[in-house]
Amino acid sequence: MAGAGIDVVLLSVGPDLPWLIGYEAVPLERLTMLVVPVDDDATLVVPRLEAPRVVDRPGVFALRPWEETEDPIGLVAELVGTASAVAVGDRTWARFVVDLQGAVVGGPCWSRTSTVIGPLRARKEPGEIAALRDAAAAADRVAARLQGGEIALLGRTEAEVSAEIGRQLLDEGHQRVNFAIVAAGANAASPHHDAGASVIEAGQVVLCDFGGTWPTDTGAGYCSDITRCVSVGPPSPEVTDAYAVLRDAQAASVASATVGTPCEVVDAAARTPISAAGYGERFIHRTGHGIGVEEHEDPYIVAGNRTALEAGHAFSVEPGIYTPGWWGLRLEDIVTATDAGPLVLNHADHDLAIVDA
Ligand code: ZN
Ligand code: ZN
Ligand code: ZN
Repeated sequence: MAGAGIDVVLLSVGPDLPWLIGYEAVPLERLTMLVVPVDDDATLVVPRLEAPRVVDRPGVFALRPWEETEDPIGLVAELVGTASAVAVGDRTWARFVVDLQGAVVGGPCWSRTSTVIGPLRARKEPGEIAALRDAAAAADRVAARLQGGEIALLGRTEAEVSAEIGRQLLDEGHQRVNFAIVAAGANAASPHHDAGASVIEAGQVVLCDFGGTWPTDTGAGYCSDITRCVSVGPPSPEVTDAYAVLRDAQAASVASATVGTPCEVVDAAARTPISAAGYGERFIHRTGHGIGVEEHEDPYIVAGNRTALEAGHAFSVEPGIYTPGWWGLRLEDIVTATDAGPLVLNHADHDLAIVDA
């Protein structure tokens, strides 16, 4: 905070709070807010009725429950005092931010906490890497069943397959399913297609991209995120060729993800071979995103991001090739940068799986 010139950090709903103190604010009209001054003790302002849910952390923060008729905005404003630079959690509701901006005296400069907490959250500690690894292994087990034909595709709707993937993520130990994209045939040309009523047919490639939250005893869960493609019956020569390009590009990008390498270089390592093969226009998104207590967080693997990878950074490497009206392909693993080189957390087979039609 001192380095960033921030006097007070204010955290409410969103992942920063559980990441920091293990307590998740209930998303309510009643304000919960951790007030962290740069040179004083932290205070958790919490509705009286939520106070019993807070695990006391003496020496970490003081608890300040507020009664139903008290004004929590005024309470927080008092704790902020005459600070001149205040950073608010990125996910804080506008109703609280706007009211606080009216209540804090002296008109401080307001910013978002991503500048302060983002880099801290991006560098994972060993326990966080272990949680990401366990989450990835669970997602791998579901992916392997998909690739092995144990999760039926032919004749079912995308929505049915999506629901089954979700159930299996939970069976494998996730505490929550965050998403399960199932996109068959031409639907896969839309990278974030909503699994729907389309019935999966022979000859289609089915793109499955799914993830959930893995529980830990710190109170903050860590996310999985994996994409694999399965062809129902033999794929066309065009798809086979494109997949070979994609697979090599993904592997090249993973291999480039060493400590000290700028994020944009990792993006280029995937993009260059895809462009060279003539598919550059069809790779319509960045190569990856950081992952941790959120599915998408810093660092982003994208052109223009010169941030150098540090040991502990965890992120997806997920290039894709999309042909509108026909098919879409994506291959995604979670990777962490270590001093010994890139460590891939997902191990499900990287080939285009082919199941019986
Ligand atoms: Zn995505
Ligand atoms: Zn994904
Ligand atoms: Zn992803």
